[in-house]
Amino acid sequence: MRILFVASEVAPFSKTGGLGDVAGALPSALADRGHEVVVVTPRYGFVDPAAHTLTRLGSTVHARGESAVLLGTRLGNAQVYLLEHERFYGSRSAPYSDEHGSDYPDNAQRFAFLCRAALDVPRATGFEPDVVHLHDWQTALAAWMLRHEHGHQAWARRARTVYTIHNLAYQGIFPKELVPALGLPWDVFRYEAMEFYDQLNMMKAGLVFADAIATVSPSYAREILSPEHGCSLDPVLRHRARHLTGILNGIDDETWDPSRDSHLAATYSRRDISGKARCKAALQRELELPRRREVPLIAMVGRLAEQKGVDLVAAALQQMMGMEVQFVVLGSGQSDYERLFRRAERAWPQRVAVRIGFDEGLAHRIEAGADVFLMPSRFEPCGLNQMYSLRYGTVPVVRAVGGLEDSVEDFDGARNGTGFTFRDYSPAAMMTALQRALETYRDARAWRGIMERGMAEDNSWRNSAEHYERLLEALPSRHAGA
Ligand code: ADP
Repeated sequence: MRILFVASEVAPFSKTGGLGDVAGALPSALADRGHEVVVVTPRYGFVDPAAHTLTRLGSTVHARGESAVLLGTRLGNAQVYLLEHERFYGSRSAPYSDEHGSDYPDNAQRFAFLCRAALDVPRATGFEPDVVHLHDWQTALAAWMLRHEHGHQAWARRARTVYTIHNLAYQGIFPKELVPALGLPWDVFRYEAMEFYDQLNMMKAGLVFADAIATVSPSYAREILSPEHGCSLDPVLRHRARHLTGILNGIDDETWDPSRDSHLAATYSRRDISGKARCKAALQRELELPRRREVPLIAMVGRLAEQKGVDLVAAALQQMMGMEVQFVVLGSGQSDYERLFRRAERAWPQRVAVRIGFDEGLAHRIEAGADVFLMPSRFEPCGLNQMYSLRYGTVPVVRAVGGLEDSVEDFDGARNGTGFTFRDYSPAAMMTALQRALETYRDARAWRGIMERGMAEDNSWRNSAEHYERLLEALPSRHAGA
């Protein structure tokens, strides 16, 4: 198959979360299976052309009077085109929001342009896809545009679209006045299309017009059909339930491999785990925590957002600090949560280390150096950190929701399980799971068993890419004449 993959962030060029990881890994995993894959994404201002050996190609794509030059490079066996457009992307220091965390005021225009420019790539390069794979609200409009703006092109009439929901909570909702400004007809502004409580909802374009919808774990695919997790789009999703599939994301097991991770003070593997203790000592030194081997080190890495269950941690913090533990937090996001953790660090300097910001290397060192990885998410479409933790022998304590439920098996007290899970969204339920983990930590044999089972799992993209391939191959064909 020829697959055109459009995403607003693609690691290693850009990443704010799991979408970037997925868009950086799935294309080459599909290409490794023999498909021809082209990825289209913006070149934001912080993407250094020299560092990524980006080559300026002669081709230009156009949309509504705007143009972008294509910069080419490869990600494994996939071809990548980064769109160079100074005003929309080149002048920005982050994909979606400014340094104060406010969304850019022209995000609707910026990503409508991405959709149209990506659909002009076949004309500019000759690459005519069989499948167009779209991701999250930023590229959802392309599902509508392909059907309504490209009817004159045979490839577009034949091409099928898949839309992957990475997080239903971010829908790209804009005032309806933007409908004409984005070059859309008022016809899209109805409930059966992109209207949503009298506003324009870009995600709906993907949910309504894509031939198939995927999301990033089987549990999340079920959960989003309910009002509790459906973010008000559950009626739309229920309508399309037959076309909705959950495919657990994979992890990039080359970047995240404790046996050859260049960020670490020492490497290790399931066969020889001794390096992990050195990673813990190095991490305690780096974080200026007492270097105590026997004290369990609990970690959190991620966006400090309500989704991630930070309020549970806030409510349980006193109780947690009453136990003999160390706690490290790396993340950024909501300022009240940032303040909360900074205060905790001041209150318990011997026990708590907080790093606010985005630091890829430190994220690796935490995964390697910690004993327990805490992810008490309110909801979690897939979650990657718990899978990195499994691979690094860091035992996850997670809420059994979404992809966390699909990737972590609760320890049964004997020989089964890769972590500790809890179901109720409450500080008490979280603390019960954490206490079970800390008790088990004192039983070195049992703990070692949990670590080894987690490290033995294969959560790589090879599995997920096979699932995606089956989904893409099962799409009913469209006839160019239809
Ligand atoms: P989400 O997509 O909801 O943010 P995921 O767990 O799916 O959560 O993916 C988050 C990705 O971003 C992971 O690769 C994680 O390591 C990374 N990440 C998040 N916050 C940070 C941070 N502050 N520093 C480094 N990496 C981070």
